[in-house]
Amino acid sequence: MNQEFTVAKFGGTSVADHAAMMRCADIIASDSQVRIVVVSASAGVTNHLVALCQTGLSTEERQAHIDGVIAIQLNIIECLSLDADLAHGFDSTLNDFKHAAQHPAQTNAHRDELLSFGERLSSYLFTQVLRDKGVASSRFDVRSVLKTDGQFGKAQPDITQTKTRAQAELVPLLSEQVVVTQGFIGSDEYGDTTTLGRGGSDYSAALLAEACGARNIHIWTDVVGIYSTDPRLCNKAKPIAHLTFDEAAEMATFGAKVLHPATILPAARSGIGVFVGSSQDPQGGGTWIEKVPSSELIAGVRAVTQRKNQLLLTLKSPEMLLASGFLARVFTILSEYKISVDLVTTSEISVAVTLDNAPNASRPELDQEALERLGEFCHVSVETNLALVALIGSEIQLRQSELNLMRVLSDFDIRLICHGASKHNLCFLVEQSQSDTVVQAIHQQLLEQGR
Ligand code: ADP
Ligand code: ASP
Ligand code: MG
Repeated sequence: MNQEFTVAKFGGTSVADHAAMMRCADIIASDSQVRIVVVSASAGVTNHLVALCQTGLSTEERQAHIDGVIAIQLNIIECLSLDADLAHGFDSTLNDFKHAAQHPAQTNAHRDELLSFGERLSSYLFTQVLRDKGVASSRFDVRSVLKTDGQFGKAQPDITQTKTRAQAELVPLLSEQVVVTQGFIGSDEYGDTTTLGRGGSDYSAALLAEACGARNIHIWTDVVGIYSTDPRLCNKAKPIAHLTFDEAAEMATFGAKVLHPATILPAARSGIGVFVGSSQDPQGGGTWIEKVPSSELIAGVRAVTQRKNQLLLTLKSPEMLLASGFLARVFTILSEYKISVDLVTTSEISVAVTLDNAPNASRPELDQEALERLGEFCHVSVETNLALVALIGSEIQLRQSELNLMRVLSDFDIRLICHGASKHNLCFLVEQSQSDTVVQAIHQQLLEQGR
């Protein structure tokens, strides 16, 4: 086998139906370097599965979500004639799903088991589509190699074990065929199914590429690359041809949904190039994310992102004036309650921190008991319905253009500004109801005009 192989990942819209799957199969058939294919659940399936995990659904509501999942599968399967090995596995997985979905998940482990069915089903169907295109391929259950800890819903990979197992069980298969496997899911030390968090298939592809020693990762989605901002929000957003690992990682962390926030970690760690392109327009170009020598860095702001559902915690204590130990005390309590903060700003007598408060955030909610403990030595205020807007790039400095931006922002209520800790971002907190407009205004000011 050619050592320089590629892991290709296809997201939900790319495997939404038979026609979409055929386009992906064409991409694979025309690139002999693709040896591992990571698929998401077909679009809409994971949302049904998440809904099925809720308690308090009526029988009719539950059945509607089960039917929704089944309808998406049947719509694809009616265009296929499954080979016996795939038919057997698909039928028993679908039966297991019907059984598991009858009752609300009682534990986080049951929840992850239920959430895993989308990828487990789509990977059977996609393997058949690939075979129908004449590509020798087999389906592989990723749970035997992608090992994680037991934090259901936000499992952390065990890099060493994943590598050992992937080298032993997965890599030997690649010389004979293309291996189709699932994104998003893994298994813990007892073999129980875990998930990596919403949008986690990108991360799976990067982890498998690292574990198997791939040269490149191709992320095929519904846009021709990573844009200067979300193209759904701003029709003048432009795809960016090249990004550094740092820039891409910051974009993903600060809300560019096109990549799961952790995707870049394994790629940067192992020097694996990442391409992002559209499976609907594979010739339409895309974004390459790679190591860039510092002499070739493009300085300045290259993109703007936003992350909604942020919470601002402000702690004020007159005792902080000239007193040491206040910050240490605050952060000790936050860490005791496993509260992870993103941005921090301080003044003489106060400290403000932001927390991700998204419904699916991989962090525990702000604990009432933690607030009471903090309240013993400072005044605590909590503000919600905020969004974090971030300018992303390299060597970001406050030049004239960024200063002009401050004039644009004077129309809005800016709650907090952070700049300096990283040269890759400059962020501020705004009212969530204003954040779309803020992003559009920043994009127009900084990224639509010649600089
Ligand atoms: P997939 O199902 O393929 O994983 P996602 O829906 O997770 O696709 O991610 C693709 C979407 O990310 C795009 O349709 C786009 O609306 C959104 N997005 C947000 N920010 C950006 C950005 N800066 N560049 C490109 N797409 C972005
Ligand atoms: N199917 C999962 C989700 O919708 C994972 C993914 O698509 O990346 O979140
Ligand atoms: Mg995604």
